[in-house]
Amino acid sequence: MTAPLDPAAVVAEFLERVVPYDPAPEAGPVAVIGVRTALGEATFQVGDHVVRAICRALEAYRDPEDRGLCTGCGGRRLDENLHCRDCGQLHGILGQVIAQHARRVAQDPSYGPPA
Ligand SMILES: [Zn+2]
Repeated sequence: MTAPLDPAAVVAEFLERVVPYDPAPEAGPVAVIGVRTALGEATFQVGDHVVRAICRALEAYRDPEDRGLCTGCGGRRLDENLHCRDCGQLHGILGQVIAQHARRVAQDPSYGPPA
């Protein structure tokens, strides 16, 4: 479930948060950002400070589903428990604890089937 977004409004709000901190507002615009969606369209003339802010924001973005790469198969499909949906490997501290416990159990004859 994703909340509806108006991309042009989001860009406008981003600019409102960043523009006041432009150290050289007199330098003028260096780029035009255009947004066109079903909700409408808008263009924004932006200075170097804003361009850099947009680039940093985009570089910093990580998808909420991005939990890194599986060390087993290199896949990207780790679930919220860091369990690889492709090869089944567990990651993270819980995954290590479970894997260590499984190894201990496998090596301990007292866990074996009743003789
Ligand atoms: Zn995997």
